[in-house]
Amino acid sequence: MPSKQRDNQGSARNGSAYPEPVERLIETLARLPGIGRRTAERLAFYVLKSPAEEADRLAAALRDVKRAVRHCRVCYNLTQSDPCPICADGSRDRASVLIVEQPKDCIALEQTGVHRGLYHVLMGRISPLDGVTPAHLTIDDLLARFDDPSRNPGGVRPTEAVLGLNPTLEGDGTALYLAGELRKRGVAVTRLARGLPSGGQLEYVSRAVLADAIAGRQRME
Ligand SMILES: [Zn+2]
Repeated sequence: MPSKQRDNQGSARNGSAYPEPVERLIETLARLPGIGRRTAERLAFYVLKSPAEEADRLAAALRDVKRAVRHCRVCYNLTQSDPCPICADGSRDRASVLIVEQPKDCIALEQTGVHRGLYHVLMGRISPLDGVTPAHLTIDDLLARFDDPSRNPGGVRPTEAVLGLNPTLEGDGTALYLAGELRKRGVAVTRLARGLPSGGQLEYVSRAVLADAIAGRQRME
């Protein structure tokens, strides 16, 4: 069927395969991580078949997540209030800061209930190959919390940093860099115990293993 094939290629090229709003939805969905064109089409057709209220609910959820949720100005965790409830909680140990790559890691570690201090989310890890340098992360704001007590909740200068980066090559490199910067400031630097699977991601580690990793944190040499 060579002629049919030609037709398909023609429509893909001039973008007229679907009515414009459908095409726009597919293109927008396809920009999401892990969603290819085929999945985007399937999602778009699901929305088209759904009742109008369901599409409205989806649209409202997307709008609200940007409007109501932000990054805490102190620790960069996701929050509805700024500073976040953890930074605002006076019963937590404000002298201890657990440093992680992304907000999801805070949630996983917080569920263990072991860490009673605060957090700092780097929003990534140093990755020279991807062009990610310390300047692209929240490292300046992290170090400011150690340099200037007014930048840390309660005006408390932190004395302990727990490095909770993923046990990957880039996570280890980032931990090494941070350990150097923090030691210059006289901070006691520990890292999560090495029970964590090498190359793994904190967010997928079981609660019990994470709890052990915090409790058994080791001083970084
Ligand atoms: Zn916070």
